[in-house]
Amino acid sequence: MSFDPLKIRKDFPILDQKVNGKSLVYLDNAATSQRPVQVVERMNEFSLITNGNIHRATHTFANKTTEAFEQAREIIRSYLNATESAEVIFTSGTTESINLVAHSFGDAFIHEGDEVIVTEMEHHANIVPWQMMCERKGAKLKVIPFNEKGELSIDTLDSLITGKTKIIAVTHVSNVLGTVNPVATIIEKAHLKNIPVLIDGAQGAPHFQIDVQTLDCDFYAFSGHKLYGPTGSGVLYGKRKWLDQMPPFLGGGEMIDRVTFGKTTFNEIPYKFEAGTPNYVGAIGLAAAISYLESLDHTLVLKHEQNLLQFASEKLKTINGLTIYGEANEKAGVLSFNIEGIHPFDLGTLLDQLGIAVRTGRLCADPIMDHFEVENMVRSSFAFYNTMEEVEVFYQALIRLKAMF
Ligand code: PLP
Repeated sequence: MSFDPLKIRKDFPILDQKVNGKSLVYLDNAATSQRPVQVVERMNEFSLITNGNIHRATHTFANKTTEAFEQAREIIRSYLNATESAEVIFTSGTTESINLVAHSFGDAFIHEGDEVIVTEMEHHANIVPWQMMCERKGAKLKVIPFNEKGELSIDTLDSLITGKTKIIAVTHVSNVLGTVNPVATIIEKAHLKNIPVLIDGAQGAPHFQIDVQTLDCDFYAFSGHKLYGPTGSGVLYGKRKWLDQMPPFLGGGEMIDRVTFGKTTFNEIPYKFEAGTPNYVGAIGLAAAISYLESLDHTLVLKHEQNLLQFASEKLKTINGLTIYGEANEKAGVLSFNIEGIHPFDLGTLLDQLGIAVRTGRLCADPIMDHFEVENMVRSSFAFYNTMEEVEVFYQALIRLKAMF
């Protein structure tokens, strides 16, 4: 049995369009994926029919919205197989989730001279918050390098870990190289020394079904908009044992227990980390996206995505002068490259003229650009609604543009 993307494309009407007179080929899914109508309709319900602020009032709209918001948390808990829904914190996305941990975990556990380990292939969102925290605390940031295939040099981890290491933060899937990192091995190694691990799942969650108990990660962060859900929605999963000990990140309404001018006491998790009015419509939409994903056969979806990636890699490798960045044995969803003699921005603009959407630039990963000594790259990225025919159109377009130059 195989997955038929044409059957589910009716749920994504945005894909059925002409762009610059050509049928749209959307290959910028790692930047943001498209949303099925089921997600948009669920969100519209709460904007058009029953909008009320959550956890505050006793009127019908407020009650219905609160119920849907907490139901959303439970849907996500179940999807992640978290032990309890209090371990699911709604955020605005991966960036906020990581900043929350860097800030609160850092405040509680990181002191002068301590160390934090990240990898050379992180998105800026999993570098800068740690760097800012290290600067505040006088701690040191250490880096696991990657090799010529774009795989982490995991053997360096043993020597990087010291008695001063307080946390390891690593991306599940690289947004540039597509590498699927051996996160289970990293977690196992770290836990032998009682070091917690944060996984940046921005590019992992869209491809893999995550079981946080099996993985045994301490934190897992992801964004709704890359997971067929709305922008401004996201999740931080965290183990209770850490979250309970971490101070709040932002202060304001709902995160408190009691406020006086002399002293404020704080609410319990997850509310302690959800100050102010959260993006509850976004959270409800994200849960709808997850329910949508659960309605598909995940094994078939993953196989289809792998077929797309493999087909695209094989095709692009036949193009003279094209360099692919990242040839790891295990990859997911992402294919970055450059073509000799064509500026990536020109390539992106010309592909757009042919109706093909790709990402160009530094991909929020300066250290990867430095590693390969390039200024920019072109990135194609695939979702389950993409077809083999679209990959063929993409390949033919590259051939045509290359001939033009
Ligand atoms: N981490 C990775 C690996 C990403 O690819 C991205 C976005 O591209 C982020 C973090 C940041 O995600 P967001 O902008 O949704 O917060």
